[in-house]
Amino acid sequence: MSSHRSAIEDVYAQVLARNPGEAEFHQAVHEVFDSLDRVLEKHPGYVQASILERICEPERQIIFRVPWVDDAGRVQINRGFRVQYNSALGPYKGGLRFHPTVTLGTVKFLGFEQIFKNALTGMPIGGGKGGSDFDPKGRSDAEVMRFCQSFMTELSRHVGEYRDVPAGDIGVGGREIGYLFGQYKRMTNQYESGVLTGKGLTWGGSLVRTEATGYGAVFFTEHMLATKGRSFDGARVLVSGSGNVATYAIEKVHALGGIVVGASDSAGAVHDPDGIDLDLLRDIKERRRERISVYADERGDRAKFMPGASVWDIESDDPIQVALPCATQNEISEAQAAKLVAGGLIALAEGANMPTTPGAIRVLREAGVLFGPGKAANAGGVATSALEMQQNASRDSWSFEHTEARLAEIMAGIHERTATTADEYGAPGDYVVGANIAGFIRVADAMLALGVI
Ligand code: NDP
Repeated sequence: MSSHRSAIEDVYAQVLARNPGEAEFHQAVHEVFDSLDRVLEKHPGYVQASILERICEPERQIIFRVPWVDDAGRVQINRGFRVQYNSALGPYKGGLRFHPTVTLGTVKFLGFEQIFKNALTGMPIGGGKGGSDFDPKGRSDAEVMRFCQSFMTELSRHVGEYRDVPAGDIGVGGREIGYLFGQYKRMTNQYESGVLTGKGLTWGGSLVRTEATGYGAVFFTEHMLATKGRSFDGARVLVSGSGNVATYAIEKVHALGGIVVGASDSAGAVHDPDGIDLDLLRDIKERRRERISVYADERGDRAKFMPGASVWDIESDDPIQVALPCATQNEISEAQAAKLVAGGLIALAEGANMPTTPGAIRVLREAGVLFGPGKAANAGGVATSALEMQQNASRDSWSFEHTEARLAEIMAGIHERTATTADEYGAPGDYVVGANIAGFIRVADAMLALGVI
């Protein structure tokens, strides 16, 4: 075993010992470390400066009680988290997730990924992530508001335009960002627009931020497909989830001539061979906040709801060329990946964070499927958040066309940086290696420059 490999394995063993029971965090670290042998060979200074050890240890981890009163007058207690992971490149930046499964380990896995993703955008943003085990599903607007106000009462001590700038993630959309921003404004008596991104358009938000992650994932996929002389035109596509990322991925695929034949939520999947009717889906999910099963009820005979199933279980008569997982982590198993490969898959890009299990990634790579990891493919969301921060700082607001053009340019840059780095490090076409190495080097160099802090 090379000395670089044994340095990597020593640090990984430390990560396991110091962070017991945090399997998703271990998985995220393992995936990055797997790409780093070649980097340490070229840059032994990173080992001497203990960059691996330092990059795995968050700069700060905040855990707090979130008490609030439900509509029945009962006191509810949730747990809040903010992990301020790495600020070598700029203020911490990353979303808040409200979902009953959220633990410290979830937030650490997401925060760790965020460091490299943010670095890859080329923008001046560090990495962080937060959230709570609060479940907004089935809660009234008033309950969600009281929860958000309580959450921000503590979080307000730790965030700020130059310190830490949260945004949305699963369970946190425009409604939640509004309540969080309102409470922050009230507590600080300042209209500090730059403290949160994903704001509404009339109070400091940016056009295209809502669409950015989904659009960006599709732009990234378009670039991957182009390397094989392919495009979305006429391609049949599966998208998992039906939330923010999924919705705008579907919109952009349709705009580019593709046809999305499946979408899902946590209760099941819909197969619609005629192509998802996005207006109907948005009306049900965004406006009525209902389940995707209602889509099948209202769409007509050809659309089928598969209770409890994943979108990756859909049996399609026609080949599926592109898969865009946009729901949650570890949602594609090895067997599901093998089925997609057998069904004619050409490309898969991760709109969600870490949706593809390690076994599934292996199957896709072995089959030569173009694989866009989340760090690269879904970075359009955070990049557009950085554009929102720029507009806030300059008291400006840009047009939709201008902002979308900036997003497209950023995604082209990420694709280029990722592909070139993969080539340079002897792994042509391997976007995982390219994204991990390009992101890592940018952060590691900044950490070296800033000294031991
Ligand atoms: P939303 O809450 O808007 O939507 C999430 C969707 O995924 C819903 O359809 C939800 O179904 C489904 N889902 C969530 N958890 C599970 C689960 N455990 N099993 C099955 N389905 C599930 O979140 P987003 O669209 O914002 O986020 C989706 C993914 O994209 C996440 O991985 C997030 O980290 C990632 N991401 C988001 C960014 C953003 O800008 N929003 C930026 C970069 C990455 P249901 O409603 O039934 O729960």
